[in-house]
Amino acid sequence: MIRFFCLWVLLTSPVTFAELTELESRISEIARQKKDSAIALLEEVVNINSGTMNHAGVKAVGDVFRRELDRLGFTTHWHDMSTVNRSGHLFAENQGSGVCQLLIGHLDTVFEQNSAFQQFTRLADKATGPGVNDMKGGDVVIIKALETLADAGVLDYSRYIVAFTGDEEKSGSPKSVSRGHLLEAAEQCDLALGFEYAKGLDSAAVARRGSSGWSVEVSGKRAHSSLIFRDGVGSGAIFEAARILTGFHEQVRGEQYLSFNPGMIAGGTKVDHKAVLNSAQAFGKSNVIAQTVVIQGGLRTISRKQERRARQAMKTIVENGSLPGTSAVIRFSDGYPAMSPSQGNMALFNVLDAVSLDLGYGAMIPGDPGQRGAADVSFVADYVDAIDGIGAEGNGAHTLNESIDLATLPLLIERAALLMYRLSQHRGIR
Ligand SMILES: [Zn+2]
Repeated sequence: MIRFFCLWVLLTSPVTFAELTELESRISEIARQKKDSAIALLEEVVNINSGTMNHAGVKAVGDVFRRELDRLGFTTHWHDMSTVNRSGHLFAENQGSGVCQLLIGHLDTVFEQNSAFQQFTRLADKATGPGVNDMKGGDVVIIKALETLADAGVLDYSRYIVAFTGDEEKSGSPKSVSRGHLLEAAEQCDLALGFEYAKGLDSAAVARRGSSGWSVEVSGKRAHSSLIFRDGVGSGAIFEAARILTGFHEQVRGEQYLSFNPGMIAGGTKVDHKAVLNSAQAFGKSNVIAQTVVIQGGLRTISRKQERRARQAMKTIVENGSLPGTSAVIRFSDGYPAMSPSQGNMALFNVLDAVSLDLGYGAMIPGDPGQRGAADVSFVADYVDAIDGIGAEGNGAHTLNESIDLATLPLLIERAALLMYRLSQHRGIR
């Protein structure tokens, strides 16, 4: 009886690591001792406001992480982004060789200096604060995983490029400038790991939808309302806008992973539209046929192909079948590209899954791309195999209730460190 019991304990106890090598067990043990220092680092960076447009704050958070990476022997560089009205990015690289791993985080949050949400507050194994989850927690996972590998003496078994962007939440334009350094790093690397917040411990993203924008401008003939629908006068801009939106709703809707949303509409005799501010002011009278309408919307797609198809379908609806006396144009703007599902991404995911199983944390499942928005990893996904969503675990990203589960933080550091180590041993992952 006792012998069976001991065997059962041996096989199921999380500290036995039957599938881990001696070195891997050491990595895992070191990682799990990082909890207190990880929380202290998180508290330090969360208490510095780094709303995207607080350029000095974003740089100050970058300076803290730079200090940590310098300490680990990385060569660090701050790329100023003032030409695109953003703070800048922190990039760092170690001396290692072999598989090149691009580790992606961001320094900024959606909480600007005027937000009511500014402080790190700890309640037992939970903490709230701006960016604890999205994604200063994930940044800390990167730093502490690298520190773990350094402590275990295996940091230089791989080449790591750390990319902490300063404008993920509201990226600067043109993207060729604001994402130039990220793309350059991707071209040198074999794979990318995005540490955006996790959607549960057992899930990681192998695909994310891209997001872009569209706007429609409709023109009609201004006339007395008693003449509406008459020859030479027509239906007016507002009815035409309704036709277009109904067309989108009825003919473009329904494809898996495709979504589009008109977020703002204004129409009347006169519309003062400020696109950068997402605002418009309209004037119109019930006895005058509307002359103009503007609509601003967003589009989310799983691939460039789907994006092209949706754009074409929307364009066809706008340009064909206009109501009498009206015309309309649709314009599309590029945002974040999609990270499409691929075999390479799945191969990376499978390594993560094995790590999780060997650590005794159970099997992983690829997250539903429909549940995930765009992120920086999407910019590099055309160049390298990538997974994302292996950062902090918490709730309420982008809300005043944003929180992180501190109990899972050491496990996530442990998992990331072991994943990075195993990938350093991999050849031919591409
Ligand atoms: Zn984020």
